[in-house]
Amino acid sequence: MAARPRSTALLIDGDLRGGAGTFPTINPATEDALGQAADAGAQDLDDAVAAARRAFDDTEWCRDVELRVHCLRQLRTALAAEIDTLRAVTVAEVGAPITGTYGPHLQGPVDDLEYAAELAEGYGWRQRLGAAAPLGVPTRRTVVREPYGVVAAITPWNFPHQLNLAKLGPALAAGNTVVLKAAPETPWCAAEVGRIIAERTDIPAGVVNVVTSADHRIGAQLVEDPRVDLVSFTGSTATGRAVMAAASGTVKKVFLELGGKSASIVLDDADLSRAAAAAAVGVARHAGQGCAFTTRLVVPRSRYDEAVEIAADAMARVVVGDPADPATMCGPLISARQRDRVQGYLDLAIAEGGRLACGGGPPPGLTTGYYIAPTVVAGLTNDARVAREEIFGPVLVVLAHDGDADAVRIANDSSYGLSGAVHGIDPQRVAWVVSRLRTGTISVNGGVWYSADAPFGGYKQSGLGREMGVAGFEEYLEIKLVAEAE
Ligand code: NAD
Repeated sequence: MAARPRSTALLIDGDLRGGAGTFPTINPATEDALGQAADAGAQDLDDAVAAARRAFDDTEWCRDVELRVHCLRQLRTALAAEIDTLRAVTVAEVGAPITGTYGPHLQGPVDDLEYAAELAEGYGWRQRLGAAAPLGVPTRRTVVREPYGVVAAITPWNFPHQLNLAKLGPALAAGNTVVLKAAPETPWCAAEVGRIIAERTDIPAGVVNVVTSADHRIGAQLVEDPRVDLVSFTGSTATGRAVMAAASGTVKKVFLELGGKSASIVLDDADLSRAAAAAAVGVARHAGQGCAFTTRLVVPRSRYDEAVEIAADAMARVVVGDPADPATMCGPLISARQRDRVQGYLDLAIAEGGRLACGGGPPPGLTTGYYIAPTVVAGLTNDARVAREEIFGPVLVVLAHDGDADAVRIANDSSYGLSGAVHGIDPQRVAWVVSRLRTGTISVNGGVWYSADAPFGGYKQSGLGREMGVAGFEEYLEIKLVAEAE
């Protein structure tokens, strides 16, 4: 189904309505405007927070697990009923390769709402502590898990449905109400979820509010609002710092999913061809716009040139182009700004003394759209800025190591700690490396960690807290201890 240009609405207090103005949403593959999105102003945001506050304070939503489970299942069914429309929107607005919409770009996160519903259904909301008489008073003690209140969910553009639904699912399952502030680059994806909630579900007015805006200050306003109890933020580490600082004014909990510069380590007993090719293709997916992609390939020094060649060869074979074509693996970058930023890093790689083994700029023949050809950077050490900073494009930096300990040192020599990979045959050596890597997820010999029940998040400046899994659900729960005299 083709994505038709249209205008989108905000969802505030159960109503689909316009904002203070509108702003265009752009197809990054064609550079054409797809339509106009509602541009929320300060008053719209204020209304959204007020609605979420009322829905939390004045209704039984936060105590009615059965209603929440019903609504989550209903939302999943409703999104599934419109999956082809959502798919077209996602391809057009995000530039997501269409094959990805059958997985993490769309279908995966829609299906994962069932996991959130099951968690709420089977969760131990009340747990008894053992018999005790603290200070000599016989007391029955119960640990009760309760929702925080109003959640500010702020998301970036790269996997909008994954990001928006991985916050909405557990936040709602836990009993919170939500103001979802979507990225300025992908308002349509969020607005469609808002529309479907309003038109096809029993989710009560004010429980979910969807706000789109061209202005980042709307996000800042949301973080500072004293009526918000928890900020669940995904985005860059720089913005994460600003969010953390702004939230301190009202001492609200922040839960941060931030940037990464993850390493894929190839030990000297591993199948280098497989590992290097997989790393290269992995970074080219969705034009490298994945926070957890392993953008540094760390290989034995004695086989460095071979690894560069294998990676360049694999990248050169990646199909780049129209994201609506099922053969495409690497679509466009999200915007001209992001394309220019990535190009700046490729220029920097050369200025730093590196060489580009493939790619290096717009792919030949693709003059329209924000494309960069998958690129392998060689000849640099981990001190180079292109090896340290998050590029968020289809760029793999190949680095040399001098043994297992050196590989660990290089991988950990980063302010980030989001993800990583290890390739090796000897299980003891692999385990030695895994136990020393300071990252939130690690793939061993191609294992996949992405799953609704698997906690995802970062060490160090890649974030605070976990999304998905039971740990992700519990981020949205407060702890109340009730002590009853016996
Ligand atoms: P960004 O930080 O610029 O923006 C993210 C969101 O924050 C947007 O909605 C934006 O409008 C909002 N925002 C901007 N300034 C704000 C402020 N001062 N206060 C509150 N909100 C504000 O990120 P981006 O460039 O849109 O996205 C790419 C980044 O996201 C990359 O760094 C990537 O690694 C990261 N990311 C992380 C994860 C993860 O789970 N760890 C997942 C996806 C993307």
